[in-house]
Amino acid sequence: MPFPAHCWHKLAKRLLDLVYTPQCALCGVVLQLGRSLCGTCDGDLPRLSAPFCAICGEPFHGRIEGLCQCPNCGKLTFSFGFARPAMLRDERTRQLIHQLKYGRAIHLAAELGRLAADAFDDERLGPAIQAKWPLVPVPLHRSRLQHRNFNQAAEIARGVATHTALPVLAALKRIRRTDTQTLLGRQARLNNLRGAFALTAAGRRHLAGASAPGAILIDDVLTTGSTAEACAATLRHAGFQCVLVVTVMRG
Ligand SMILES: [Zn+2]
Ligand SMILES: [Zn+2]
Repeated sequence: MPFPAHCWHKLAKRLLDLVYTPQCALCGVVLQLGRSLCGTCDGDLPRLSAPFCAICGEPFHGRIEGLCQCPNCGKLTFSFGFARPAMLRDERTRQLIHQLKYGRAIHLAAELGRLAADAFDDERLGPAIQAKWPLVPVPLHRSRLQHRNFNQAAEIARGVATHTALPVLAALKRIRRTDTQTLLGRQARLNNLRGAFALTAAGRRHLAGASAPGAILIDDVLTTGSTAEACAATLRHAGFQCVLVVTVMRG
């Protein structure tokens, strides 16, 4: 008689338990298998809450009623409707993202995806949920993907998908490798990213079958918003009518 799949799954979990004790990525406390963040650390990570900029999610201090834009966004135009980071700029959240990206702590993607999914509490994302817009990860260039073995945005998108029931669609590819962006300002970043993204065959197939296509771009951090802008511009140019952005953190 064949061994049922769920038994194999249980056995694999037990074996994993023997060799790998899951710990909280921030405080090191021992956890149940499948978790990488303890309840205390999780609860301590600051979430983005109102008031914040309606376009870029930059938090405002003091009492401001309703949605308004920060002085920076007021001067700019965007290809995306708005970007909604789930978390405030915070060293611990940054550390988790850093561990995922550079420490190959791929198991953290599920926790970061769960944190990012909190952004969907924002009622402005309600119509996108209803219409089942796909989650489109910001792509990595092939050479970087070979080096890292995974795309952190794609892994985070998978985590978001489990909490929102939205599909993940690899609609974008990076066709040009770009220099590192960290030291550049917004305009220099935008210039640096010109022509860096293109629609994939999967993206084209999706567009062919959708009547009013929209997409939710997923990334780890929103800093100047120039990567999101370049990706959104590519999607809009290809035929997506509306693009929104969800990231784990406001950088
Ligand atoms: Zn902890
Ligand atoms: Zn803003």
